Amino acid sequence: MTPTPLLPDAVPASGDRRRHPAPAHLVFFHGPMDCGKSTLALQVDHNQSRQGRHGLLLTQGDRSATPQISSRVGLRREAVEVDPGTDVRLLVRDRWAGGHRVDYLIVDEAQFLTGEQVEQLAELVDESHVDVYAFGLTTDFRARLFPGTQRLFELADDVQRVQVQVLCWCGLPGLLNARVVDGVMVREGATVVVADTAPAPVPSADGDDGDGAGGDGDDVRYQVLCRRHHVRGLLEPTPTGPGQLALR
Ligand SMILES: [Zn+2]
Repeated sequence: MTPTPLLPDAVPASGDRRRHPAPAHLVFFHGPMDCGKSTLALQVDHNQSRQGRHGLLLTQGDRSATPQISSRVGLRREAVEVDPGTDVRLLVRDRWAGGHRVDYLIVDEAQFLTGEQVEQLAELVDESHVDVYAFGLTTDFRARLFPGTQRLFELADDVQRVQVQVLCWCGLPGLLNARVVDGVMVREGATVVVADTAPAPVPSADGDDGDGAGGDGDDVRYQVLCRRHHVRGLLEPTPTGPGQLALR
């Protein structure tokens, strides 16, 4: 029996799609922090690669030396770090030029994309038949759409809200992200503050776990709230609230 060659054959990059042009799609999944977007991103990648398709994973704002998409349930995969100056079309064409297939893109942290980059993704879908699966936050800490998110809402073939698994402290679905600086919810400041996007550690007694993740000496963290408590800026039950026990 002749062994099946394991090396890629001489099919030109994205040759399958060019021979059998099938419509590709730009799909955007969005939700609040901690709703499982990165886990879903890795699941989509897994499902696609099981069908023999080749993907390229992109992320942004990864502060580690080895960019990756990682999920809270322990999955992780290497990814290519992009910044606002990256032309994602060139990124894909460079892979093709290097003899690699790129059938689909997984784009995590898509809220950080520029509008221009979203348009580049749409071009890859329409002109090169590359499927794009983008994952990102819906709104910033002021409850306003991120620029990348807005452009994806405008251009994506399919927009899906990730099934919310994260709850406000009151038990209602948490849909909005609050920025908390030194224990207080803030409503002004830069759209993007590089803070620790991992789940907030249980604060120690002195309120500083010493890892310096907040930067600039401020303890910056994010907390997901329901709309009512985002409007009120309430991060926890008030001691005087009706029917609630005093907490201190
Ligand atoms: Zn609430």
